[in-house]
Amino acid sequence: MRPSYSFRTRMLLTFWIILLGALLLPPWYYFHSLTREISEDSKSRAIQQLSLFQWILERESTVNSAEDLQRLLVQLGSKLGVRLTYVAEGGKVIADSQVPLDEIPSLESHANRPEIIQSRNSEIGYAVRHSKTLNKDLIYTARKLPAMGSLPAGVLRVASPLSIIKEPVDDLKVSFFLFVILVFTAAASVSYLLIRRLNKPIQAMIETAHAISSRDYDRRIQSTPGQEFSPLTRAINTMADSIQKHIRTIMEQKHELEAVFDAMQEGVMVLDAKGRIRRINRTFAELTSGVNDVLGRRPLEVISNHDLQNICDKTMRGEEEARPQSLQIVLGGEHTYNVNLVWLPDEKKGRGAVAVFHDITELKRLEKVRRDFVANVSHELRTPLTSIKGYSETLLSDPGPDRNTAQSFLQVILKNTNHMVKMVEDLLQLARLEAPNAPTSMLPVNPAAAFQTAWRSCQHQSEGKKLKLETFFPQEAGWVMADFDQLVQVFRNLLENAIRYSPPGEALSISCTKNNNDVLCSVRDQGPGIIKKHQQRIFERFYRVDAHRGDDSGSTGLGLAICRHIIRNHGGRIWVQSPNTGDVKGSTFFFTLRPAPAGENGYGNGTDEE
Ligand code: ADP
Repeated sequence: MRPSYSFRTRMLLTFWIILLGALLLPPWYYFHSLTREISEDSKSRAIQQLSLFQWILERESTVNSAEDLQRLLVQLGSKLGVRLTYVAEGGKVIADSQVPLDEIPSLESHANRPEIIQSRNSEIGYAVRHSKTLNKDLIYTARKLPAMGSLPAGVLRVASPLSIIKEPVDDLKVSFFLFVILVFTAAASVSYLLIRRLNKPIQAMIETAHAISSRDYDRRIQSTPGQEFSPLTRAINTMADSIQKHIRTIMEQKHELEAVFDAMQEGVMVLDAKGRIRRINRTFAELTSGVNDVLGRRPLEVISNHDLQNICDKTMRGEEEARPQSLQIVLGGEHTYNVNLVWLPDEKKGRGAVAVFHDITELKRLEKVRRDFVANVSHELRTPLTSIKGYSETLLSDPGPDRNTAQSFLQVILKNTNHMVKMVEDLLQLARLEAPNAPTSMLPVNPAAAFQTAWRSCQHQSEGKKLKLETFFPQEAGWVMADFDQLVQVFRNLLENAIRYSPPGEALSISCTKNNNDVLCSVRDQGPGIIKKHQQRIFERFYRVDAHRGDDSGSTGLGLAICRHIIRNHGGRIWVQSPNTGDVKGSTFFFTLRPAPAGENGYGNGTDEE
């Protein structure tokens, strides 16, 4: 594997290599040329010396023997600081300025010396090599000489030590190399320090980029290592700004969507590609509050409904993908949900699905109420209508009934008609009370006054029964916030029932007392009472206790429903207690009202209490 060097190291190495090249190449070329020039110079000098020696030899008459020649060569050699050798044509050394005369015969033949061979062919021979005789490197220059006097033809050779040329050049080289090392070290150190100085801000830039990528979107590059890095710094900072802006927008949108998601009244369940629950909203969590760790489970593990699981599987498989799937399920035995499922395309994670649970329990209940209502109204109207129809037909028959019978038939028809009129009036009033913005003019009302008004309108019904009326409206109970007419209606409905179901001679007790923060009113009778199982239901529309049906003339089954609506609209509660306190026969209807603020006057000023 190729080692990976940092950009900085590569830059430094490249710079240093170039620097070394720049420092070494020119001197190398210079020394090469210098050496060549000095060699050439020494060669031509040696040739000049040889010419001089030849001239001297030609004129020297004293050279008659090898000894004479040896002496002359020694003298000339020592004067010029060179080694002079005379080699006969066969290669035999005749004289040598640096070898004693008696050793000369033992010298090996020089016939094969390169400079000797070369001089034989081209008069002058030249070679640089190691001398075994003197054991040092020498420059040899040889010249072919004809026979002169007693001197045989041969080759005169001059040898000068190579060190004469090499040493000054080598000294120069050493100085140069020392200079190069010095310059290189200085330049390398300075460049290293410069690069190191660059390193810190670059490192800071890298760290900032890392921080931004690790979601620290507030981080910015503060210092720029150099002018040339400014565009990069600006680019990174601008990029961070833009990322931060986008992330903020995305986060805002995400939070908005999450808020909408959680505020939805519908339960939402998101399935991943494996059909496991990936996300749910708050409503769905409440819906499945009994199950721990909903996320990651299959729908069936959370809501045990096979139809739901099937529809989820179907959607995940992509069957009929264009159409949203829906089904109705009942949870906990009382809540009905309409579930709509759509598939969720996700290129990366694969197909998912979203299920929306819409609670339609109230809708179902209202549907049932409407159905029951229509059935009840039809049923309630059919009895009087049938009666009216029967009597009318009889009256119209031929021969018709006698006058007295006809009179009583007409009475029955009138009674049934009145009953139907009352029922329609009650229904209309219920409809008005059920309207979302049912008009109520809440004012401080004296409950005693409302009772008095109600009693006056239904007192005649009690006439034959000789009922004893007991009222208790203590001063400290105070007034209540109410719509006067509606409060009168509540008292009248309760009084009518109490009168209707009370046996003759019994007492009716009406009271309004202070009870914690409310005013508690009650209407108590000593009638047959109402058994427990009916006590809740008697406040429903048309609900009547079967046992009382025998004597229910004028009863519509709507009176208590109207009372409940009125009291609810007033922010109070209504309920029945039966038997009465102390296990006394009969029933007491209670209702609460809000007390009027102290000092405020409205209906019922100056009304006498009974
Ligand atoms: P109704 O017009 O039939 O009186 P209500 O809604 O006022 O209709 O009463 C519903 C039913 O509650 C009555 O039919 C009766 O069976 C029962 N009920 C109401 N008040 C009394 C009472 N004071 N004593 C016994 N039963 C009562």
